[in-house]
Amino acid sequence: TSVGKSSEDEYKDKLLGGLLAPGFDEGSCLSRYQASLYRKLSPYKPSSYLLSRLRNYEDLHKRCGPHSEPYKRTVNELMVGNKNITRSRETECKYVVYTFHSKRGLGNRIQAATSAFLYAILTNRVLLIDQGKDMSDLFCEPFPESSWFLPENFPLKNNLDLFNQTSHDSFGNMLKNNMSKSNPSAYLYVYLEVDYDFYDKLFFCDENQPFLSRVPWLILKTSQYFVPSLFLMQCFEQELGRLFPNRTTVFHHLGRYLFHPTNQVWGLITRYYEAYLANADERIGIQIRVFEGSFVPQKDVTDQILSCTMNQKLLPQVNEQNFVVPPPSGKPRLKAVLVTSLGKGYYEILRNMYWENPTVTGDFVGVYQPSHDEFQQTEKQSHNRKALAEIYLLSLTDVLVTSARSTFGYVAQGLGGLRPWILYRPDGENLTVPGPPCVQLMSTEPCLHAPTYYDCKAKTGVDVGNVVPYVRHCEDTRWGIKVV
Ligand code: GDP
Repeated sequence: TSVGKSSEDEYKDKLLGGLLAPGFDEGSCLSRYQASLYRKLSPYKPSSYLLSRLRNYEDLHKRCGPHSEPYKRTVNELMVGNKNITRSRETECKYVVYTFHSKRGLGNRIQAATSAFLYAILTNRVLLIDQGKDMSDLFCEPFPESSWFLPENFPLKNNLDLFNQTSHDSFGNMLKNNMSKSNPSAYLYVYLEVDYDFYDKLFFCDENQPFLSRVPWLILKTSQYFVPSLFLMQCFEQELGRLFPNRTTVFHHLGRYLFHPTNQVWGLITRYYEAYLANADERIGIQIRVFEGSFVPQKDVTDQILSCTMNQKLLPQVNEQNFVVPPPSGKPRLKAVLVTSLGKGYYEILRNMYWENPTVTGDFVGVYQPSHDEFQQTEKQSHNRKALAEIYLLSLTDVLVTSARSTFGYVAQGLGGLRPWILYRPDGENLTVPGPPCVQLMSTEPCLHAPTYYDCKAKTGVDVGNVVPYVRHCEDTRWGIKVV
């Protein structure tokens, strides 16, 4: 449905089933309340408990957010020089600061920030996001009457980029060095990047959470969707069950709650949608991600895409004999294919194929690609705006085909509530394309690529894809796990 076709009825889901709070200024962030004009009604309803927890969170964020009195007081604890001061009282507001490696792409950041937000909800903390500049150019404020961006004058701001696995004030190194847990410091740095080590991973042990809950500032550095690991922790089990009776909707709901493109990005999205996608009978998104270091000839990738989309009947076959086949019944359908990729070769092949040959069904297929920036340019804002617009446009399609192990695709599928067909990654020494070429995902949830494999209670390794029925190994990453 496009804005042009909107009616009051279609606008009734403006608040996305109650996920969004009413009362924001509409003009300053058009996407917030216009998203429902472009999205299909979600098949997943948020639980009333989730809605009430979000409203509580918003109150907490307003009370404790940047520049509030409690914020200033808690920041002061960081500045007294001695970070090990003994606190006589329980700190009134506690925070999770989410920070990331500046080279991380958007998909990584969005999924990691969503995980940090869920952790904040579960532990009654306030989420603040580092790197306000480039993120604020992309996303509106999600919480009413406050900001989720870490203020520029945050005392540890300059340290955030420097934090890494070897930092002595990290939680992992604290455990490694047997430092006492009796007197928690004002802040702790939690390293949850893909190369986190045994001690860093002990973050996900129930027994460490009471200690962590006493630290006012937790600074999380991660690019991972660590939600599946939270689902394996007993201390959060009950609360997660109440928040998400349908466990596979965590990213779908929280992602749509948090990420509203700024007006500039919303312009990119809506103009493209109206010009190329709105009038189609069906929209098919194809996201092609070729990772550095795993070069596969373009022809092989194209063959894989074609055999996936044809086998699964997502796209019609073409008739290369070139005689026109009449449509089976009535009016031919118009299918719009949205291709996103850093290169433009795949798009050209598809577009030409449907231009040069008729389809056997008589349907018409238009193929479109918004941009082809050739390589990732995360330091460039115009590049990031387009990347976000494309993720969002993919999420507005009816059928999605994505590349294995790409968080760019995960975010699109999660926002859209879609179970995409995922193109297996070419494997082995000669990077051969496997057969079958693709598989439909079990759930819309993203995959956690590098989980901890440690059973904290038994103190041994465990296959975390086999502990509970609702956390399984991912289809596209054998060693990863996801909520299904
Ligand atoms: P991942 O690396 O596939 O998991 O996804 P990320 O989003 O984290 O990082 C990839 C980055 O490369 C994106 O954020 C974009 O900057 C860029 N990129 C990759 N694929 C595309 C694409 O199809 N379109 C655009 N515009 N950018 C892309």
